[in-house]
Amino acid sequence: GLAEKLQETFKKLRGKGRLTEEDVDQALKEVRRALIGADVNFKVVKDFIARVRERAVGIDVLQSLTPAQQVIKIVHDELTSLMGGSRSKIELASAPPTVVMMVGLHGAGKTTTTAKLANHMRRQGRRPLLVACDIYRPAAIKQLQVLGGQLDIPVFNMGDGVAPPDIARAAVEKARREGNDLVIIDTAGRLHIDEELMAELQNIVEAVKPNEILLVVDAMTGQDAVNVAKTFNERLTLTGVVLTKLDGDTRGGAALSVKAVTGCPIKFVGVGEKLDALEDFHPNRMADRILGMGDMLTLIEKAQANFDQEQVEKLNKRIRNMEFTLDDFVQQLNQVKKMGPIDQILGMIPGLGGMKKLKDLEVDEKDLVLVEAIIKSMTPWERQHPQEINGSRRRRIARGSGTSVQEVNRLLKQFEQTRKMMRQLMEMEKSVKKGKKGF
Ligand code: GDP
Ligand code: MG
Repeated sequence: GLAEKLQETFKKLRGKGRLTEEDVDQALKEVRRALIGADVNFKVVKDFIARVRERAVGIDVLQSLTPAQQVIKIVHDELTSLMGGSRSKIELASAPPTVVMMVGLHGAGKTTTTAKLANHMRRQGRRPLLVACDIYRPAAIKQLQVLGGQLDIPVFNMGDGVAPPDIARAAVEKARREGNDLVIIDTAGRLHIDEELMAELQNIVEAVKPNEILLVVDAMTGQDAVNVAKTFNERLTLTGVVLTKLDGDTRGGAALSVKAVTGCPIKFVGVGEKLDALEDFHPNRMADRILGMGDMLTLIEKAQANFDQEQVEKLNKRIRNMEFTLDDFVQQLNQVKKMGPIDQILGMIPGLGGMKKLKDLEVDEKDLVLVEAIIKSMTPWERQHPQEINGSRRRRIARGSGTSVQEVNRLLKQFEQTRKMMRQLMEMEKSVKKGKKGF
């Protein structure tokens, strides 16, 4: 899949300290191949690569990040904006009811999504009415009634003898009378796009002027889904796309191209057959998922936002020289404190997340005050030589800081663990550097 391929590429980048222009090109070649392989539209890929390259080559190197991490971040940012940037919501009508019309080909998931969306919107306080406008397919009305029944949401139908635009109009009137502030219209599909279908859908649009026209497409169909979206959009001016069956074994290409090709944002994704398996579409999270790196990016962002570069540099040097002392420990705890709970921070670093010991390192606001009090009660010599702090010294420190000997013991143990972990990190870094020699 795309995620694995990109990760392989980035693993190679991660091992490098500094990137040349050729490095960037080499990595982007692999990104391009991965995207094409995931069935992303060719033109979309071309533009995407050009944008990433432009930003990656002129990179401003931050000290806490390797250039490779920054390239990953650029790819992530660009993936996010490719999918529309931020999350898009259903536009509610200023005068209710809000009318949402679902369109799409046979089997894309229109009827299921109609019910799922009603369920989703009801949780936000809406009072939906479902409308059965697929009068052609046998049992289509029944299917919607069954789903509505499961959710205890009303379904409006006029059988199969009335034209769909008239059904839709009658449903909106009924909703207005009975206080349903949301009308969701399920419509007929076809195996392929044809003129008759488009004409009927246009007539429904004319009749009820929907606030939203959502195209439902099956993510498994890849580029076909994108082509379908393009054609529907040309005829109906869609307001959004729902990508279904994302729980299946899809290559994800459709999610990446829909917005770029049609200009329509993906608003929801279907992730299963059950009626609660509909999620808001977050471009940001989808990019995470495509890259398969989850929290790593969050960590990078936090580091950028919070770390005082100069201090980090100094600290790194001390750690490198194994001069890390209890004074540094306090300083570092304060830095980390700004970023959030320490176990969470460490949990984001690949390879450290699984470390059992992390729980012992948990720090909260109160602990931090204690830690500072304890360390301030030590002599400068003790701070430089924590291994030499014996029982009587511990008792004196406890008295001086208003804590207990157990608390002093705990702190010294935490400090020792932190040092040990840093040593491990240093060794990891060293082995990475050795590997880099070959480039
Ligand atoms: P329609 O012809 O567009 O109305 O499609 P339906 O709503 O009848 O759905 C066709 C099939 O796709 C049904 O078996 C649904 O259960 C299934 N389906 C719809 N959405 C999803 C989804 O997000 N994930 C999975 N796995 N199946 C879905
Ligand atoms: Mg249907």
